[in-house]
Amino acid sequence: MLNYEMLKTLPKVDLHRHLEGSLRLETLVETAREYNLDVPKEIESLRPFVQVTNEPPDASSFLAKFETLRHFYRSPEMIHRLAYEVVADAARDHVRYLELRFSPQALSRVQGFRLEDVTQWVIDATQEASRDFNMDVGLILTLVRHNSLEQAKQVAEIGMRNQHQGIRGLDLAGDEINFSADPFKGLFVEAHQAGMQCTIHAGEWCGAEAVRFAVEELGAERIGHGVRATEDQYVLDLLRERQIPLEICLTSNLQTASVAHIGRHPLRQFMQNKIPVTLNTDDPRISNITLTNEFESAVQHLHITYEELRQMTFTAIESAFLSSEKKMRLKQLFSIAWKPTLRDFNAPPSSFPHGNNKSH
Ligand SMILES: [Zn+2]
Repeated sequence: MLNYEMLKTLPKVDLHRHLEGSLRLETLVETAREYNLDVPKEIESLRPFVQVTNEPPDASSFLAKFETLRHFYRSPEMIHRLAYEVVADAARDHVRYLELRFSPQALSRVQGFRLEDVTQWVIDATQEASRDFNMDVGLILTLVRHNSLEQAKQVAEIGMRNQHQGIRGLDLAGDEINFSADPFKGLFVEAHQAGMQCTIHAGEWCGAEAVRFAVEELGAERIGHGVRATEDQYVLDLLRERQIPLEICLTSNLQTASVAHIGRHPLRQFMQNKIPVTLNTDDPRISNITLTNEFESAVQHLHITYEELRQMTFTAIESAFLSSEKKMRLKQLFSIAWKPTLRDFNAPPSSFPHGNNKSH
């Protein structure tokens, strides 16, 4: 019964999705033709440049896709369209609450746009899509470890100034191996003082110490991935004691070789250690997946039950960068479709508002 169709009907939360990794291939091809970009202009020939196909799992070939994607941010209209479609795709997969993250630096680099401007274009597009698809979308600004600290400061300031416009948090991503998070410490302290919440990519390519640092030194409220926290019981205890949620992204972890085999993914180990866990997509178009696929994968390969998926979904709401009133409202809405047990679940929910889906 826990098949793709049934899992798709259930309302879902995605707390870890990068805009840059969520772009429609069809739109990329159109853009390549319109702007005569120096990339293949047919879907199948462009695909291996922007999507993981059958190459061996490897972090650098995964990250190379972002280098190609950077060339598609050609104009304000293009960025608006790309961001709007990302929300439309999430809505189609019945993601009813999305925290979408993006790096203003990545979107601005090739054309030299101002960081404030690209941020505003994404805010406008996602707010429009949020209204059209009747779903709440929060934005997280990603700071990039391997770019300049000065630029990261500018991005963090833009985030702090735009909290009322749906910027809900800060993230730190990028080359975890060669670039320490240490220089960013002051910046995260300042962001917390300004009322922002933070999630940090850690323990994806580096060991448990990176997770400890993110929690104890940067004050992370959530951890992106964190899979290598299993290497140190102290860090597992820290995550449990502070109830720091992990944003788990199964397929991404396989494709970047953070985890050697899906059957060996530590998701269950985290659950046994009573650490809050959530399921997310990371970069759905690069990985060619949806959140429903990730739920299905957890069921098939890690024997996650309906009740455990339900628990993870409510954990995701609880872990969202939202006010307690908004969390309460989401929990009420989700309770309509997510019956307490699989036995109680008998038909796709009809009472959950699905909004006006313009994309098809
Ligand atoms: Zn990520």
